[in-house]
Amino acid sequence: MTQHEFEEQFWRCWRACAIVIGLAMLLLLVTVTFAEARSYVPQPPAEYDRLPVNYEIRHVHPYVIQLRCRSLKAIACAGVPKDPLGKCIILLPYKHPLMSQLLTHEFGHCNGWPASHPNPRRP
Ligand SMILES: [Zn+2]
Repeated sequence: MTQHEFEEQFWRCWRACAIVIGLAMLLLLVTVTFAEARSYVPQPPAEYDRLPVNYEIRHVHPYVIQLRCRSLKAIACAGVPKDPLGKCIILLPYKHPLMSQLLTHEFGHCNGWPASHPNPRRP
């Protein structure tokens, strides 16, 4: 191996390492950002923060939530009936680190908290 070949191989290897390190840092950044975004669920204001009159909780696969809630970002949602005494159907994942916050959030929607989440509280 000549000096030139050695240098060429060294720099090729170094570039590959730089790309791998760059991708790893990007992945870390995305993970941290995602974790921060999911560190709490907005909670309903006091007037909507109570048990709904008539509700049913369904734990379903995340794909079902995305489909039924019509959003790829949805992690839970509530099907709020037009009839005030109708049953509010809450779709939740099987498990989630913030399950009680998700439930309180969806209870808020069952009680009339608009989907635009006005005046959210931090848990
Ligand atoms: Zn919501």
